[in-house]
Amino acid sequence: MSLPRPSLPVLHNELVNCRRCARLVAWREEIATTKRKAYRDQTYWGRPVPGFGDPNASLILVGLAPGAHGANRTGRMFTGDRSGDFLYAALHRAGVASQPTSTAMNDGLELRDVFITAACRCAPPDNKPTREELDVCREWLLEEVQRLPRARVYLALGQIGYEAMLGLSKRTETIIGRGQSKHPAFGHGVMTQIEDPRAKDAEAWLFASYHVSQQNTQTGRLTEGMFDAILMQALERSRS
Ligand code: SF4
Repeated sequence: MSLPRPSLPVLHNELVNCRRCARLVAWREEIATTKRKAYRDQTYWGRPVPGFGDPNASLILVGLAPGAHGANRTGRMFTGDRSGDFLYAALHRAGVASQPTSTAMNDGLELRDVFITAACRCAPPDNKPTREELDVCREWLLEEVQRLPRARVYLALGQIGYEAMLGLSKRTETIIGRGQSKHPAFGHGVMTQIEDPRAKDAEAWLFASYHVSQQNTQTGRLTEGMFDAILMQALERSRS
């Protein structure tokens, strides 16, 4: 007889104590000690960041990793930096966030029908986790999505989130994108049918967006209109 799976809060309690990647542990803790001048009076989180949102979500957003002075400072996904400003404003426009800003764990923000997670849970130097670090951390991603029973649609924020989801799925088929492929190339607007990572022979959908990084949003590579459109497509698919 198999034992029941620990709940999402129990999993997150384990996750925040993870120290498997020596390089990332050293970096996240160094940033938490040296701090950015503007936040020198704050206590940084400096640990792995759990997913955040509605446990009954039908849509899961998969980002890259905590920002050094964003989620690594506040302890909540996409909270406290420009990427989060863009993302939560869009979620609020879409009607799934209770407020358009996300500044701290205790700011009252609630998400409905959406859960936000990431491929790597510790802030990496230059926002670049290694292949090995991503492979190790993908186990946390799988454990987390297994505890979100209603979700059948994923929206990857950037290539690394996209690759992480493909890495969890054994079968893929591109529906919108660059032709039929077992390993569909990343691109904004690509939509791929995948085998649900939680259930063999069940289907799920993976949408791809450019990352909501300041670099992309300030240069116009990713506009509000582009992101609103892909978010609505993913939400509609998740509710159908
Ligand atoms: Fe653990 Fe993931 Fe952080 Fe590595 S990146 S230490 S696996 S939480």
